[in-house]
Parts: sequence; C-alpha cells; structure tokens
Amino acid sequence: VLFRSDFRGKCILLVEDNELNRELLCQILSQEYDVIEAENGQVALEILKEHKNSISLIFLDVVMPVMDGYTFLNRLRSDSSMSFIPVVVTTQSSSEEDEVNALSHGATDFVPKPYRPQIILHRAANLIELRENAAMVNQFMYDRLTGLFSREYFYQKVQERLNESTGTSYAIVCSNVENFKVYNDIFGIRAGDEVLRRIADLFREMMGENGICARYGTDRFLCLMRQERLPEWMRVHSSAEKLPGLSNIELKWGVYKISNRAVPVEKMCDRAFLVADSIKGRYNQRIGIYDDVLRDKLLREQAITESMETALAEGQFSVYLQPKYWLQNDTMAGAEALARWIHPELGFMNPGEFIPLFEKNGFITKLDRYVWEQTCKKLQQWRQEGYPDIAVSVNVSRADVYQEDLPETMSSLVAQYGIEPRQLHLELTESAYTENPNQIIAVVDELRNRGFVIEMDDFGSGYSSLNMLNQVHFDILKLDMKFIQTETAKPGEMSIMRFVVNLAKWLNLSTVAEGVETKAQLERLRDVGCDYAQGYYFSRPLPVQEFEKLLAAGKKRLEDEE
Ligand code: C2E
Ligand code: CA
Ligand code: CA
Repeated sequence: VLFRSDFRGKCILLVEDNELNRELLCQILSQEYDVIEAENGQVALEILKEHKNSISLIFLDVVMPVMDGYTFLNRLRSDSSMSFIPVVVTTQSSSEEDEVNALSHGATDFVPKPYRPQIILHRAANLIELRENAAMVNQFMYDRLTGLFSREYFYQKVQERLNESTGTSYAIVCSNVENFKVYNDIFGIRAGDEVLRRIADLFREMMGENGICARYGTDRFLCLMRQERLPEWMRVHSSAEKLPGLSNIELKWGVYKISNRAVPVEKMCDRAFLVADSIKGRYNQRIGIYDDVLRDKLLREQAITESMETALAEGQFSVYLQPKYWLQNDTMAGAEALARWIHPELGFMNPGEFIPLFEKNGFITKLDRYVWEQTCKKLQQWRQEGYPDIAVSVNVSRADVYQEDLPETMSSLVAQYGIEPRQLHLELTESAYTENPNQIIAVVDELRNRGFVIEMDDFGSGYSSLNMLNQVHFDILKLDMKFIQTETAKPGEMSIMRFVVNLAKWLNLSTVAEGVETKAQLERLRDVGCDYAQGYYFSRPLPVQEFEKLLAAGKKRLEDEE
C-alpha cells in the first residue's frame, strides 16, 4: 500500500493492476487528493476494511487479475457500511456497451482512456461533493432520538405519496403531549426522552413498516393516515385508557382531513396541530378534528391579530374597573383594572377572547403597558380631584416579567404621573414561576424594593406549589374563583379554603377572594377569615365613569368628615 503525497484531507482509492496506468492516474489525482493504490480488487477490499470512513471516492479498472472490477463492485455495493462510496470505472475503450455495463454494475461514473487530467479532476470533485451533500441530507432525514422522519423529510414524503395515490383520501394525524414540560421537570430529561421514544413506537405500531411518521418538534408527532382508517383509529384512541408505558402521559390528537391537495403540506400539519392545541386542558377530550367551527375561530383570530395594532393606536381599548371590598367593614378598598376592546366590526369583546391570543403573539406587553398607563393617569386625576386614595391592581402577564426593564418601566410610570408605587398593585400569575422560577423571584424582589405591592393572581388554578409561596415574596394571595365557587358550606368540615387562608396568614400574606357571586359565599369568606373580596355580588367590572360614582360616595364621606 502506497500513500502518495502528504495527507490533505480527502482521499481516493485507486484500484488498477497496470502499473503505468496507475502511475498516470496517480499523478493527476495527487494534485488535489491523497491517493491510496491497490493492484487488484482483493487488496482494495482489505484497504477498505480499515479506511472506508476516510475514502471519498474509488477509481476502478474493470479488467484485473485475482478479483476483477465487477466482482469488487458487487462486494462493495452489498456491504452497507461502504456501499455509499462513489466509484468511477476506467476502461480501455469508450464504447457505449462498456459504459452501460459499468453503470449497471453499480458504478457511479465512467471515464474512458486516454485520461484527460482536467476532466478527471472535475469529475472527482463533483462526485465527492454530491456524496457529501447526500450524507448531510441523510442526517436531516431522520430524527435522532426516535428514528422517525424529520419534519422536512415528512413534508417531502407526504407530498410524494399524495402525488402517487390520487385515488386515496388521506388525513394528517398528529399528537401533542399534555404538559410535557412539567413531566420533564418532575421526572427528568431521560425519562422524558424515554416517553418520546414510546410515543414514536406507538406511531410505528399504528402505521406499520411503511408508514409515514415524523417527530415534528420536542413532543409533537405526526403521520399520514388513510381516511378510511380514521373511524377505527378514533374508536381506539378516544378512550381514556392509558397507553402501555405512558401511564403518566396524556396525548392530545389532532386530525386534518385532506380535501384540497393544493394546500401546502406544511399548512396541513399546522392545522392538525392547531386542533390538537385547541383541546388542551380539556380533561375528557382526546381527539380534535379540524372543521368549519375551528376554521371560523381561526379566521376570527386572524382578524383580531390584524387589527390589534390599529386598535391600540386608535384607542379602541378601554379600562374597566372592578371594585374590591374589605370584609371587616365592607368598604371599598381598591379595584382591579381589566381591559375591554370595543372593536368597530366585531363589537364589544371580553379579554377572554383576545388576551390568550396576545399572550401567544407577544402583543400583550404593549396592551399591558397601555392599561398601566391609563390606570396611573386615573390615579393622578383622582388624587388631584380629592377622591379617596385607593390602590388599583393591574395585571402583569408572564411576558412582561421576562422584559429586562419591567421594574424601571413601572417606576418611571408612577413617577411620571406623580403617584405612589404602593397605589399600584401588580397581579402576577404563577405560570411565570413554573416556567422560570429564578427570574420571577428576582423581579418580584426588585419591584417590592421599589415600593410596589405584589399580588399572586389566580392562586390554585394551575400547578401551585407551596415552594413557590416560600420563594417568591408576594404581599397578597388572590384565590382563584374556583375556590369560592366549589366551596361547600358544611360547618365543621375542614375546607381547603380555610387551610389556604390560614397558610397565607402564617406567611404574613393578605388574602383576596375573587368571583364572589352570592351572599352565602361572602359569609363563608368572612367565616374563614379572608381579608378582601371581589365579584359580581358587589359589582361587575365598570366603565371608569360609573366606577367614579362609587368613588364619589367615598369622596363625600371624606368631605363630611372634614
Ligand atoms: P383575572 O385577572 O382573573 O380577572 C378576573 C376575571 O373574573 C375578570 O374577567 C372579571 O370580569 C371576572 N369576574 C369578576 N367577578 C366575577 C364573578 O363574580 N363571577 C365570575 N364568573 N367572574 C367574575 P375578565 O375581565 O373577562 O378578564 C379575564 C382575564 O383576562 C383576567 O382574569 C386576566 O387574566 C385577563 N386580563 C384582563 N385584562 C387584562 C390586562 O389588561 N392585561 C392582562 N395581562 N390580562 C388581562
Ligand atoms: Ca387579575
Ligand atoms: Ca384572577
């Protein structure tokens, strides 16, 4: 074995028994490559055993003693560990028959004698590049963790299948793991990976050997299924029964039936996932199907998204205020600012419709800033007009917490309107904690140092952890309305609400109950020792002018006392 020239990276194996020919080719190739020489097929195979991973290309003579070129080619192509190496066959003649013969034996290309150096070098370079690109594509074809197709390859495969079988109706079926992030946090990344592999197996079982299945993103999977299989598949997968090996896992499925093949595959997949996402958190629903209802909802969402910037600029958003009462003497203790949108075409909209959308598309930070500023403006005006000094709570969404300059923004707002930071209560939800504990701990401390009062909103609605109460220094715990609305008034029964209120007292936190609708609920709250209450029983959220009438009563009392 001869190594010609210094090691320069790419290496060509030259298989040729005729010494003169070998010398000729070697001189040409070694201008650009490392060359290893072999005098027959047998020797070449030995060399390959050791160097197959570093050989980029083979030049092969077909007529050789010991093992001829075609036998060598057959061996090479039948060994999957080296079948991908391109082979250029060299022959004496340039007859078409020779060329066809070479190619049919698995040669990649063919060069006749006499050798023309520039052509040989170009061919070598092209073949090596082609092969390297192909290797790269291969890497992107499969998902490493599960061995299913990658997203891009899935699109391609689906498109091919749709083009081939025009007579069959298909559907895109996808799955998404409910709360996969929480699962990962609790059980660890390795267990999470294991779950993902199980899900991949589930797809393989569902679709069989030739199924077109892919992992789409972390915990998202999809496949192409024939529509005729859907009824049976749905019967199996809509039951609440847990899947083997996936007992802690809940899968949400989305189905998009392909009716119009002109829709790009990517879009079909988006739609399938949209349905899957639309049933998130619905305990008893496993499968969602893309239909006209969902389509209309998406169109409405699109209309909302398209008009939100203008709406903010044109003042279509307004702030409503819902009063909050102190339970010891039933006086108004403050209010919560809640956004409303009076849309020129869609009409009056409650935040339930647009806030979740704004949280997804990021616009929430702009709207929140607007609401904060309107609130500060009002507080300033009330102060100037001699209304009682009340505090107003504003909602601070998760995205706001992630903004570096939130504390600074808040401080400059209150400074600009000449009000006290303690007049602005900030309601944060625990989801920010679940996602990024350290950040929220730091931000809350910083805001409190600046004098703001921090409320934990919707406590008990998500994955509240007692640990969070310990780590994040809130001032006020705002109990989710589920608490009061499911509370049974059985005397003597140890209630969850009593426990939470006592816990809050023990942590030196005040408590606010929201969603109080009846007198019985109010009495119950007094009984367990809750400090404040908010709800329809007292008042709905009111337009500012109406709220000011309530405030005026307090103002009158102040004036009477003077
Ligand atoms: P939230 O912060 O939990 O606000 C309380 C919601 O409960 C309000 O709904 C309020 O109108 C409603 N509510 C008050 N009393 C009762 C009652 O006795 N019974 C019942 N069933 N409901 C009651 P709203 O105004 O529709 O707001 C919904 C959610 O939208 C809010 O929940 C809050 O998370 C969000 N939101 C509203 N305005 C803003 C805002 O300016 N910024 C941000 N980030 N979120 C906002
Ligand atoms: Ca709130
Ligand atoms: Ca709330």
